[in-house]
Amino acid sequence: MSGRRGQADVDLIVRADRMVPMTSEGVVDDAAVCVRDGEIVYAGPAAGCASLRAGRVVEAGDAVLIPGLVNAHTHVGDHIYGTMVDEADVSESLYEVIFPLAGKLDHDLLHAAARVGMWDAVRCGVTTVCDQNMYAEATAQAATEVGIRAVVAEKVVEYRMDSTPSFDRGSRTYAMTWDRAEAERLLALGVEFAERWRGHPLVSPAIGPLAADHLSTDMLRECARAADSLGVKLVPHIAQTEAEGAELRRRGYEGSIRYLDAIGFLSPAVHAAHMVFVDDEEIAIAADRGISMSFNPLSMLSCRCFPPIQRELAAGIRSGFGTDAFSMDMLADMRPAIYVANLLGDADAAPLGAHDLLRMATVEGAQAVGLGDQIGTIEPGKRADLVVLDLHDPRLMQVSNVVETLAYYASGRNVTHTIVDGNVVYEGGEAALFDEDEVLDAGRDGAAEWLRRGRGLIGGSALADRVDQRAYGVP
Ligand SMILES: [Zn+2]
Repeated sequence: MSGRRGQADVDLIVRADRMVPMTSEGVVDDAAVCVRDGEIVYAGPAAGCASLRAGRVVEAGDAVLIPGLVNAHTHVGDHIYGTMVDEADVSESLYEVIFPLAGKLDHDLLHAAARVGMWDAVRCGVTTVCDQNMYAEATAQAATEVGIRAVVAEKVVEYRMDSTPSFDRGSRTYAMTWDRAEAERLLALGVEFAERWRGHPLVSPAIGPLAADHLSTDMLRECARAADSLGVKLVPHIAQTEAEGAELRRRGYEGSIRYLDAIGFLSPAVHAAHMVFVDDEEIAIAADRGISMSFNPLSMLSCRCFPPIQRELAAGIRSGFGTDAFSMDMLADMRPAIYVANLLGDADAAPLGAHDLLRMATVEGAQAVGLGDQIGTIEPGKRADLVVLDLHDPRLMQVSNVVETLAYYASGRNVTHTIVDGNVVYEGGEAALFDEDEVLDAGRDGAAEWLRRGRGLIGGSALADRVDQRAYGVP
């Protein structure tokens, strides 16, 4: 934006009645943030920068300015799935249809879906996603087009996508056809991707082994080695399902963390999604090895499980906050997360509250995904990832404590401005860098094309009666 600065001192000044910088400053009234070349050069009372001339000023007024939200675990391309899974038959839908259908995806379909997911993200105040999926290149390209910051990893599994795990309804177990060559091919793709995107201002590549039960011990070690030699994060799912635990018991280990520790996989490079099926000893091991995690409450509730988040935090595990697939509205997820965590948590554990959630969604999340030195707080020296939320709203009228107001009452619909790296990417209900109609049409057409390719899989499955004919794009 420096080209637009002209005679100005800074590129952008954002002023708002309240600011929660997520530093030791607490809440700042009549606040301003000044941005030059994408970097925050001033953050504090507006009076402190009154003499500065700006290329552009955002006067937010009755609003609150917070650091951009960091969605610490996503699959933005999974927006193509829409609402295809119903509680009535989650496992059948996933194993019999969704996983095999993923084999019908390609770069263009993932790109179309990722753009829709990232648009949803920026309009909900999310400025960073931490994503793992097939066709990582498509996700990274989408991030640059939408203008969002993204940690992106190629998904590595040890089976072919045209031969995904088969599910037995009776025993509720699944069986896999292992294919080492395919895992090596996917990891090589992931390494090439990481080498290509390293040093990009918005995209930080990572290595993405899907989960311990989808990869052999050898390939998990190869993934960890690759991340270590590239100096990037390792972003697996850990302790997500009981099926994962059962597979690792077959390998002779009780629990995902014990197993991953024994094979030398755990290090501070690991940022783990979920961490649900872990006991206290495993929590202590995870904390000791310095891994971070993403707490993804609504996603886990959809799988009818929930992580021991208070014990994980008490042990010192750094946790971000994630939505996983589908919705990107982190603010809307906070209230149920707090209630369920406290309902299920130990009676003697410190209850989870609004400040904990907002910290996870900003400063802790930024550190968890490896970007803590660049983002997560509003302070000079950090990149300007900022969100403005309008407080002129019937639900947000009574602000006795702005952090509690945000966590319990706000949602993505209160976001008026999303700023990433100093660029306003969402403003007044509209995306700034792309044509919304084109993105939505391409996403919808891509989803219909994908379903047409998978029509044979859907027929006769748990989804057969539920997929509306219109979803196939047939008028
Ligand atoms: Zn996930």
